[in-house]
Amino acid sequence: MVIVMKAGARQEEIQAVLERIKELGYTPHVISGVERTVIGAVGDERGKGVLQTLETKDGVESVVPILKPYKLASTEIKRERTVIRVGENVEIGGDRLCIMAGPCSVEGEGQVLEVAHAVKAAGAHMLRGGAYKPRTSPYTFQGMEEKGLKLLAKAREETGLPFITEVMDTSQVDLVEEYADILQIGTRNVQNFALLKRVGKCRKPVFLKRGLASTINEWLMSAEYILSEGNPDVILCERGIRTFETATRNTMDLSAVPVLKELTHLPVILDPSHGTGVRRFVPPLAFASVAVGADGVMVEVHNDPDHAWSDGPQSLDLPMFQELMTKMKPFADAAGRSL
Ligand code: PEP
Ligand code: MN
Repeated sequence: MVIVMKAGARQEEIQAVLERIKELGYTPHVISGVERTVIGAVGDERGKGVLQTLETKDGVESVVPILKPYKLASTEIKRERTVIRVGENVEIGGDRLCIMAGPCSVEGEGQVLEVAHAVKAAGAHMLRGGAYKPRTSPYTFQGMEEKGLKLLAKAREETGLPFITEVMDTSQVDLVEEYADILQIGTRNVQNFALLKRVGKCRKPVFLKRGLASTINEWLMSAEYILSEGNPDVILCERGIRTFETATRNTMDLSAVPVLKELTHLPVILDPSHGTGVRRFVPPLAFASVAVGADGVMVEVHNDPDHAWSDGPQSLDLPMFQELMTKMKPFADAAGRSL
């Protein structure tokens, strides 16, 4: 249920509603808008008739049911777009696009520093790099773990770029949260509910990739797990879904962007690297992502992609990334976004 407070409702009135929601066994989530405050009452829905009685309380304008199965993620509860601030200079979901770039995996100091400096010079806003890698084969490189996190932190120190990195398991969350600016939940973990709940308790934003076979509804329900634990900063990432098509590694669902923009206030980033799996297809899909209204793009970039330890075939080399950034400008302009 959403409890819509009257414009100008007093703090004591809001407080009284919060108390009552708790008494009724629900968890209140306050969303303070420019004009008015709305309060989401989330919990077991069997007794929702009782919440309707809040309509008689001072300062309350209306009590309306949220029809969608996801609540906190829905535009029904929050119409204003969520804008997530990272570090001092990065904003995700605002007017400016957020470009995240870097290697699939952190492989060593020389590699990560070279790539970080190059993507920064080309205009990227964030560095990406995996220290814990979900690999299809247990016999391939699994990531540098904490050593990798330290190298990403060093790259941040040298370039000023905040970084995003994947966390694969609840046991890794404390450590990854200590280093990273954004925690990535990979496609294979989109319904690892224990992990979603755990990162829902984190203070850092969470970047939730779409599952290989997630419907948009299922994906938003996963976002809801994070939001309902108290973390309001969730970013959705479309990275391609599994279809019958084999010409590309996955099929990038560009239509997810306008659909999500209708259903949710959360920012949406596209990942054309995993979306296509083919280096030369990454730039056109990156441009299309911006054109269709994405809040940013995540791109894999490597200083020597042909020898990368993971995802080399889809990684851009440094000049290709620079060219992509230059050619992105008119698409950003057309979409009314700055770069
Ligand atoms: C990655 O970002 O390198 C990655 C493993 O992504 P996904 O979970 O989308 O496959
Ligand atoms: Mn990858």
